[in-house]
Amino acid sequence: MTTASLPDERTRWRCAHCGNLTRFDVTRTTRVREFWHLSMGGAPSIDEREVLEEVVEQVSCRWCGAVDRVELVARPEFGGPDGEGPGDGGP
Ligand SMILES: [Zn+2]
Repeated sequence: MTTASLPDERTRWRCAHCGNLTRFDVTRTTRVREFWHLSMGGAPSIDEREVLEEVVEQVSCRWCGAVDRVELVARPEFGGPDGEGPGDGGP
């Protein structure tokens, strides 16, 4: 699958079908190590969380449901789209 990449500080996702830039369903598997801090009463809170491994399995468009059309594009400050114009699937 070509969509299984996370955006970095210069990129973002865009649905090539409908033009959505802001809403996606992301299915991912994450392996973490956490610092669990328990109160004397036994109630836990997680004070630190380190991601050891992360695999993005699927990114789908929340608007049109396309699962294979989400692409990485540049963020606006790096020349990417700054509006949600229609994609090749029309408005
Ligand atoms: Zn879409």
